[in-house]
Amino acid sequence: MEEGNTRVTSFHCDPDTLRQVVRASKPCAVAGCPLATQWIMKDPGDSPGLGAILKIPMLSVPPFRSMRMAGTLRGFLYRSSQPVASQLQIGENRRIRTPHWSLCRMNLHEYQAKQILARTGVPVPAGAVAHTPEAAEAVAKKLGGILWVVKAQIHAGGRGKAGGVRLCRSLAEVRQAALAMIGHRLVTHQSGPEGLPVSAVLVESGSAIAHELYLSLVVDRPRECLSFIASPEGGVEIETVAQAHPDQIVTVPLIPGSFGVPGYVTRILAGRLNLSRDLYPSFEKLIAGLYDCLLATDASLIEINPLIVTATGDLVALDAKVTLDDNALFRHPDLAVLDDPSQRNPAEEEAERAGLNYVALDGDIACMVNGAGLAMATMDLIQLQGGKPANFLDVGGDATAGRVTQAFHIFRSNANVRAVFVNIFGGIVRCDLIAEGLITAMREATPKVPVIVRLEGTRAEEGRALLSESGLPIQAIAGLAEAAGRAVQAAGEVS
Ligand code: GDP
Ligand code: MN
Repeated sequence: MEEGNTRVTSFHCDPDTLRQVVRASKPCAVAGCPLATQWIMKDPGDSPGLGAILKIPMLSVPPFRSMRMAGTLRGFLYRSSQPVASQLQIGENRRIRTPHWSLCRMNLHEYQAKQILARTGVPVPAGAVAHTPEAAEAVAKKLGGILWVVKAQIHAGGRGKAGGVRLCRSLAEVRQAALAMIGHRLVTHQSGPEGLPVSAVLVESGSAIAHELYLSLVVDRPRECLSFIASPEGGVEIETVAQAHPDQIVTVPLIPGSFGVPGYVTRILAGRLNLSRDLYPSFEKLIAGLYDCLLATDASLIEINPLIVTATGDLVALDAKVTLDDNALFRHPDLAVLDDPSQRNPAEEEAERAGLNYVALDGDIACMVNGAGLAMATMDLIQLQGGKPANFLDVGGDATAGRVTQAFHIFRSNANVRAVFVNIFGGIVRCDLIAEGLITAMREATPKVPVIVRLEGTRAEEGRALLSESGLPIQAIAGLAEAAGRAVQAAGEVS
């Protein structure tokens, strides 16, 4: 059975064996499927309540998540009256992907995060989202008062310093601020040089700040548990605090398998945040709210930066970042619809759908390489020769024609690309098959820039012959350094 680029084979085993495998949380232990990284479970036909299809990448996930997933699987097994084994399928050709965090997360906008947090009792400023300057003004008018803040809604922090957070003292100013943001791109130090499009602003009542603190709850991968992270140095990026004042950050892990937040955790955090005694009750409520929210939404991160103590002595989450674990989205249809694809890199999106490991970079030489290590080495070589790679791309050990074509499509849509460098080592794959794939791909998505190909390994001679006979504008070069140099040179000639 073909499913995208993954070959999926049905796998049968008796429910008891399956339960053992699940309990051990070791998918590789399944006989005959050494590369299995994705479990696809189909809903048993007789229980429509269980949702559609459960897809679980096993090896690319942090241990804590595998634990949670094993839990989900187990629930699935025990609730089902049918033998489930026949519904378990394993994608066997799926390689372990680089643990790229973006592969298993979905970010929310600040206004969405705050709505969700408010539901579990986390105090947030009064406010509402607006998609036009007029709507922004109307929100401010309805809120009343004399101070408002208009905040650009993008999936990146650092908006304050970039003009994406504006304090306004009149309705006209609110309108002005919204006008300046909506429909434009906002560049912050987290957004990448091209910035992110702003299609909405959050308009809130302004707060008078006495202290800015940092508080987050995360799925702590190294510790395999949930951890609270807190610092009295809020408002600035936690990474900066970690560098300059590591002693100002406290991490408090929660014991795995326990439920709720024990009182001592709250007291440690409150102490390290220098909260006054009278704030303890509301802080305890806030901590419980964060915890309930993370569990209820299957979030992997909730970050409040800054958490403020107001001039009147209240705790308020002034900013909020929530990252959801998208493997669990199937059980949150209400959250899944909050996805905003406009905030993601379109090329990386396309690559992800095609099963390619792609990371966009800002150079002009597009790279297509098999194997992550060789891809890194190739990028180094290009830089050594004075060039700049346009991307990282690992097409995988089994680079199929389909995937190669997808890669060329992505290269074409990048206006910066001045040359394409294909570096394939035929260790597992045969170079002549790769060459055929390249030819098919180039006939379908012909690049407008020079294509330099270095093929080495099994049947390399035959591969190079095919390329030169194809009549396509391909420069086949045998040596690695030589080929990289040629790519850099070609890119220079084009621009
Ligand atoms: P970020 O820069 O993208 O993380 O956006 P934040 O929501 O964290 O806002 C950045 C900064 O703007 C905060 O650290 C505050 O100093 C300031 N700010 C945001 N809202 C208010 C407000 O209501 N009143 C005041 N006085 N400052 C605010
Ligand atoms: Mn912030």
